[in-house]
Amino acid sequence: MKSTDNVSRRKFLGFGLTALVAAPVAASLLTARSATAQADLPKVDEADPVAQALGFKADAATVDVAKFPKRAGEAGAKQFCHSCALFQGKEGDEFAPCTMFPGKAVAKGGWCNAWAPKAA
Ligand code: SF4
Repeated sequence: MKSTDNVSRRKFLGFGLTALVAAPVAASLLTARSATAQADLPKVDEADPVAQALGFKADAATVDVAKFPKRAGEAGAKQFCHSCALFQGKEGDEFAPCTMFPGKAVAKGGWCNAWAPKAA
């Protein structure tokens, strides 16, 4: 075997080991960056005209159920952003994007009149 073969093999193995180490590190950095990006989104302002039209409240317990009867009663009391099909977060996220409010985040305990159940 020639010494140039050994050098090429070492370079190849070195590249492979680097890739093995770098891929999980890069993946975890991307995940952390994505979580940070979500956390950095501005929160929906309840005074926003769209939020007001939809009766959005960051705390679902404060929804005016006389004005938004969808959240009244036993079934309504179970409606929260975290159980809404439009909530883009995962289990445990305190805030997450909502497709009703592009570029903004809603609290998991929030609610608005566009609430729709997540698919089972
Ligand atoms: S659409 Fe769903 S997730 Fe978005 S604010 Fe309304 S209830 Fe919350």
